[in-house]
Amino acid sequence: MRLYDTKEERKREVTPSSAGTIDIYCCGPTVYRFAHVGNMRTFLLGDLVRRTLRAEGLRYRYIQNITDVGHLNDDVNIEVAGDSPEDKILAQAKLEQKDPFEIARFYEEAFHRDLRALNIMPADAYPKASESISLITDLIAQLIYIGAAYQGNDGSLYFAVRSFKDYGAISNNSLDQLRAGHRFDLNAEESGKRFHADWALWKAADANRQMTWQTPWGVGFPGWHIECSAMSLHYFPNGVSLHLGGIDLRFPHHENERAQSNVATNSEFVRQWVHGEHLLFEGRKMAKSSGNVLHISDLNERGIDPLALRLLFLENHYRTQINLTWAGIEAAQSTLKRWRMKIATWGTSGEIRQKIVEEVQGFFSDDLETPSAMLALRKFERDESIPDGDKRATFIALDELLGLELTKREEVEISEEIEELLKERASARSARNWGRSDELRDLLAQKGIRVSDGPTGQSWELN
Ligand code: AMP
Ligand code: ZN
Repeated sequence: MRLYDTKEERKREVTPSSAGTIDIYCCGPTVYRFAHVGNMRTFLLGDLVRRTLRAEGLRYRYIQNITDVGHLNDDVNIEVAGDSPEDKILAQAKLEQKDPFEIARFYEEAFHRDLRALNIMPADAYPKASESISLITDLIAQLIYIGAAYQGNDGSLYFAVRSFKDYGAISNNSLDQLRAGHRFDLNAEESGKRFHADWALWKAADANRQMTWQTPWGVGFPGWHIECSAMSLHYFPNGVSLHLGGIDLRFPHHENERAQSNVATNSEFVRQWVHGEHLLFEGRKMAKSSGNVLHISDLNERGIDPLALRLLFLENHYRTQINLTWAGIEAAQSTLKRWRMKIATWGTSGEIRQKIVEEVQGFFSDDLETPSAMLALRKFERDESIPDGDKRATFIALDELLGLELTKREEVEISEEIEELLKERASARSARNWGRSDELRDLLAQKGIRVSDGPTGQSWELN
C-alpha cells in the first residue's frame, strides 16, 4: 500500500516494523464532548488503511489514545481574552457540574458508539492519558537526563526545542520562522520557559486542582503532546510505521511529538506521517465555537443511515476538503439504499468477478483513491453484460473493503394498500390463479413496486 507522506511530500510504500507488522498510531479524541462528523472522517481514515492492508494480506497493529487530561483550550477562537487556557475536560465538568472522570468516561463511550455506527473497526488498545501517567513521567525523566527537558522557574517541566535540530520538518516551519508571540505566548501559564517555542511536558498545579498527580517534581498534570509520544513508544518500541491524524495536528502537535520521540530514541521514530483533510459543513469550518457541528445523532434524527456518510466520505479523496451539505448526504443515502435493494434482489448465486475486485483494491492501495474505486463500482453496476448474480457476489466480496453493510435489508415503508395487494398476489399464486397474479403484478408496477418470482416465492423492490 502506498500513502502520501506529509513530511516527505510524496507517496511512499508503507513499511512494516522489524516484527513484520504495520504499526499504526492514530491520535484519538479529547473526550469532553460528542465527536463531530469531521472528527469521524479522520478516524475513518484509520479504518480504510487497515481494511486495505487486510485485503493485501498484511498484518497490522493499531493503537489510538484517549485524551482525558491535559488538552488545554488554547484555541485562539475559544480563549476568552485575559483568561489562562483551561483543561477542556475540567471546563466541561464545571459546565455540567459533574466529576471530570465521569465526563471523560461518558464521552469516551459515546465515541465508541459513533465508531460502531460508521463501521470503524476497533483499535487493538485505547490507552487513556490518565492511566498512563507513569509512562509519561518516565519519558520526561529520560528527556531531562538527556538534557532535552528542564524544570522552569514556575515548577513546570518544558521540552527544550533547540535540542532537536530538525524541528518543523513535517509542517515546513523552522524555528527561526516561528515568531515569538504567535501561538506560544498565548499561554500565560507557561511563563517559566526559557525559550518562546519550548512547550510544557508537565504542568505544575495547585494540589486542590482535580486530575493531578504527585511526581518527584511536585503535583501536576501532563501536557497533551507528551502523551502521544509516551504511548506510541510504549506500544511500538521499534518505531511507528504510520502516524495518522487530521491536518490541523501537523503543527504544533505532531512537530512536538516528533521532537520528543526522536530525541528520546535517537532515531526517526515515525516512518510515515499521514494526514486527512478537514470536513467543512455548509461551507464553513466545522467547529464547536462557530456553532456548525454535525453529529452522528443528527443523522439518525433525520432518518439517515450513518453509513451513507461513510459512502459520501468514500466518494471523496481523504486529502481533499469536503464541503458537507444535507443534499450531499441525502444523495449518498439514496445510492446506499439502491445498492442494498439491488443486492437483495439480484438473485442468490453468482461468481465473484476478480477483475473488478482487483481494480477496486488497486485504487485503495494507491493512496486510498476511493473516488476512482466508487466510479469503477458504479460502472460495474450499470454493465448489462454481467449477470446480476455475479454483480451481487462481487459487491458482497468488496464490502469487506467498503464497510457499507450492503447485505443489510432496507426497511422500506409501504402503504397498507400495497401490503394488501402483495398479499393478494401471493395468495393468487398459491392458488395457481396466474391471470389474477399477472393483473396484480401490473397494478403494483403502476404503483412503483416491481414484483419478481423466485424459487422461494415472490419478492419485490421499488422501481
Ligand atoms: P479532537 O477530539 O479535537 O482532539 O480531534 C480528533 C481528531 O479529529 C483529530 O485528528 C483532528 O485533527 C480531527 N479533526 C478535527 N476537526 C476536523 C474536521 N473538521 N474535519 C476532519 N478532521 C477533524
Ligand atoms: Zn497525538
